[in-house]
Amino acid sequence: MSRGQDSFKQRYNRALDEEFLQEALERATTRFRLGRSLSLEDIEDFDALRQQGKEIKEYALAQLDVNLGALANRVEEAGGKVFWAQTGEEANKYIADLAADKGIKLAVKSKSMTTEEIDLNDSLAEVGVEAVETDLGEYIIQLAGERPSHLLAPAIHKTKEQVAELFSEKLGEDLPNDIGALTMAARRALRQKFLNADMGITGANFAVAESGTIVIITNEGNGRLATSLPPVHVAVVGIEKVIPTLNDLSVLLKLLIRSAAGQKISSYVTMVSGPRRGWEIDGPREFHLVLLDNGRSRILNSEYRQSLHCLRCGACLNVCPVYCKIGGHAYGWVYPGPIGAVITPLYNGLKENKDLPHASTLCGACMDVCPVMIDIPEMLLKLRRDEAEQKFGGLWERLAFKFWNYGVGSEGKYNFFSRLGRKMQSPFVRNGKIAKPPFPFSRWAKERDFPPLAENSFRERWAAMENDHPSEEADG
Ligand code: SF4
Repeated sequence: MSRGQDSFKQRYNRALDEEFLQEALERATTRFRLGRSLSLEDIEDFDALRQQGKEIKEYALAQLDVNLGALANRVEEAGGKVFWAQTGEEANKYIADLAADKGIKLAVKSKSMTTEEIDLNDSLAEVGVEAVETDLGEYIIQLAGERPSHLLAPAIHKTKEQVAELFSEKLGEDLPNDIGALTMAARRALRQKFLNADMGITGANFAVAESGTIVIITNEGNGRLATSLPPVHVAVVGIEKVIPTLNDLSVLLKLLIRSAAGQKISSYVTMVSGPRRGWEIDGPREFHLVLLDNGRSRILNSEYRQSLHCLRCGACLNVCPVYCKIGGHAYGWVYPGPIGAVITPLYNGLKENKDLPHASTLCGACMDVCPVMIDIPEMLLKLRRDEAEQKFGGLWERLAFKFWNYGVGSEGKYNFFSRLGRKMQSPFVRNGKIAKPPFPFSRWAKERDFPPLAENSFRERWAAMENDHPSEEADG
């Protein structure tokens, strides 16, 4: 299990029982898929661009130490401070100490999965700092006390009626079920927070080594306010986000923005290179870059390295038949969908998250849309292999595979067990299906069709064909 208390089964069953969730997921993911396809129309060879993106990420990770060193030097030259956080706790402590040192009680945040990953808000709350989410979706789920359920649309699971009720209760206004009115209510509440905050906290979509620039992509402009209004700006950035050059950025921006929201360019692409310079009239007086490892170096040196290529665009979620049914909360942590099924076990432990690599049909749709061609199915299979090697499966599963292994170990055994199986299944076969099979097969058949073994095996049919039509001798 992940950090949630419930098992994966309990979580997905709860999600399957929520009627609205299915409808909301269908609507939102269809819109995302369509938007993505339309935004690709002006690109002649999107696969060539994806290949380029993949190579940039591979190269950036191959030279990670060099790129990180260059990034840190550029940021410090521009007057910023760099903190290297080995763990989430170290990152949280650095930011909490900074807030305490400056007497900061209110921070505004723009959307950042990395700060969700390390539970920064809770950690700041413990030392008396209120951290307010300012992305509309994040604001909704913060008020509701929930976690995001999509990488891009964190409140994808909420209806406008639910949001109206939530806002009316938390903001003390009687608000209608109208998206415009709700957005304006959030805007009024947040504008005041921006003006009062002494710290702005952001993540970054990319960090460019050659110029010491962090890049934040938003559609609501809150990222720009969080980086320019408060006197202190803290950016929490996973070390895998570093890329070598601004030229690389131009390729990755094209890929990310189209794959994420189906736009050619997002409303705001904010680039920050250090604090306000002497001659500038606005911007933060201090800029702190927190470079977070939190398990990334371990993954870098493993066969799951390509998971660090992820741009967090969310495209793989929108095409995944499993995510589209169960939504994000069922995955139990901040990263949902196919990429979440890979990285949650890598970050939080395979034993605790042993069900997630199985939350996939292995159809490959995730890899087909991934802007940097991450082979998610291959990594899911490798995680399943690791589980088997470390014996995380239940007793029944292990016994079943032991028996299977024995049964297919030679042609003789295979033929014998096939014949035995056909004999044993005959009382249960009705209309081409096995109806009501005995335990333990009954559990499998509860939610799926159970096809019977064919009356004649392929080998038997082949032998019969050979007898009927013996192959002709070749001429000559
Ligand atoms: S794995 Fe690929 S498709 Fe999925 S979120 Fe990451 S970059 Fe996007």
